[in-house]
Amino acid sequence: MEVQDKRTYQAVIGLEFHAHLATTTKMFCGCRVTYGEPPNTHTCPVCLGHPGALPVTNEKAVELGVMAGLALNCEIADRAVFARKNYFYPDLAKGYQISQYDAPICTGGYLDVSTSDGTIRVGITRLHLEEDAAKNVHVGESGRMHGSVGSLIDFNRGGTPLMEIVTEPDIPSPEAARATANQLKNILRAIGVSEADMEKGQLRCDANVSIRNPDGSFGTKTELKNMNSFRFVERGLTRELERQRAILEGGGRVEQTTLHYDPDDDEVHELRSKEYAHDYRYFPEPDLLPLQLSEAWVREIKSRMPELPAQMLARFIEQYGLSEYDAGVLTADRDLAVYYETVAAVPGIDPKQAANWITVELRGRLNEADIEISESKASPERLAELIGLVGEGTISRSAAKDVLDRIVETGESPSAVVEREGLAAVGADELGGVVDEVISANPEEAERVRAGDKKVVGFLIGQVMRATRGNADGGRVRELLLQKLDS
Ligand SMILES: [Zn+2]
Repeated sequence: MEVQDKRTYQAVIGLEFHAHLATTTKMFCGCRVTYGEPPNTHTCPVCLGHPGALPVTNEKAVELGVMAGLALNCEIADRAVFARKNYFYPDLAKGYQISQYDAPICTGGYLDVSTSDGTIRVGITRLHLEEDAAKNVHVGESGRMHGSVGSLIDFNRGGTPLMEIVTEPDIPSPEAARATANQLKNILRAIGVSEADMEKGQLRCDANVSIRNPDGSFGTKTELKNMNSFRFVERGLTRELERQRAILEGGGRVEQTTLHYDPDDDEVHELRSKEYAHDYRYFPEPDLLPLQLSEAWVREIKSRMPELPAQMLARFIEQYGLSEYDAGVLTADRDLAVYYETVAAVPGIDPKQAANWITVELRGRLNEADIEISESKASPERLAELIGLVGEGTISRSAAKDVLDRIVETGESPSAVVEREGLAAVGADELGGVVDEVISANPEEAERVRAGDKKVVGFLIGQVMRATRGNADGGRVRELLLQKLDS
């Protein structure tokens, strides 16, 4: 049943991303790009769309677009043309958006994505540059357009350099869509072309989704708009595929439509239907010259490209002797990778131990607290100090985990925590005494170990650990017990 379902209902997903480019100024004027500043404080005649104001292309934005294209294995065009995309909306003062249409700066790339079913290659159809619209702020109880008492417009965002990246419909599942989105975000951040902070609206994602017909041809696709979290991308696509499947199983037909996923009720809602016949009346922007991207300039940009996540992964395996899994976890997040390298650079730190502490212990605690590594109070220096304390035998591994709990909360020095809470490991002499006591208190078990029943050793280790309140190294305790019971 399951197998047949999979064969009959093959999902076909394509993604479209909009990412703010990490420039200091806007796409076609000198206004600063800002977030969270008082409304309409960073505007000028160009980004307010005053008649007669002339745009000038931001060279840095073009450079960042080329970098993104190179990172996504795209072909970089030698000539790209800006075009007017005409439509009316209050947040678009000019009545058109300057974008690129039939001559984008990058085409034909790909991205290799690791998913739970292995690596898939997702084609990149195109990457083009454009400007963001201003921001509508709906006033009233609902905070949405419908039911609000009015709408205000903040033009600070208007004209922010934007890059649109469109993938081929190569993605086979909602989970793979989330992995693709995550990997793309990671690449954009790694090479510094976008901060890609979804909460600031610097990265947004739309998805096209359909179910393949039994004969292998594409089914009718629907569009899921404006998802601002990759978790919602996965959940929204899951819901939409369920909806399409129910329609097909009921003998109906999927209608081409635009939907919105609402995380509050975990459902997709129709925005507009039958809207695919948009006519934006694109034409080349008469106020801007076409971009001429010389081979030499592109080569020069390529020569100073930062390390890509895939290259970093290979380097971590090679340089630090990490497993592919650990290296993958660490390099999947630029901040985590930088954190790791800071810890591993501390003299005396074993890089594999450091990887283990970060990928398992630290990440576990961050996930539990639902915070990013950048928000963590446990600095790389603190963690390195903690790993050092375990390495030199000052504290046991289990005590170190308790100390880590504390550092993540407070950011204080591990040595200070150990001192204050009396977590220092029991010294060698003292530990020997405790082991002797445990042996004499449990003569029956001790006898069984002497007779070769190694299973009982665990019980005795537990007794020693309890007596030392966990402040002993389990391996060392086992060693001592076996030593003493062997003689
Ligand atoms: Zn401006």
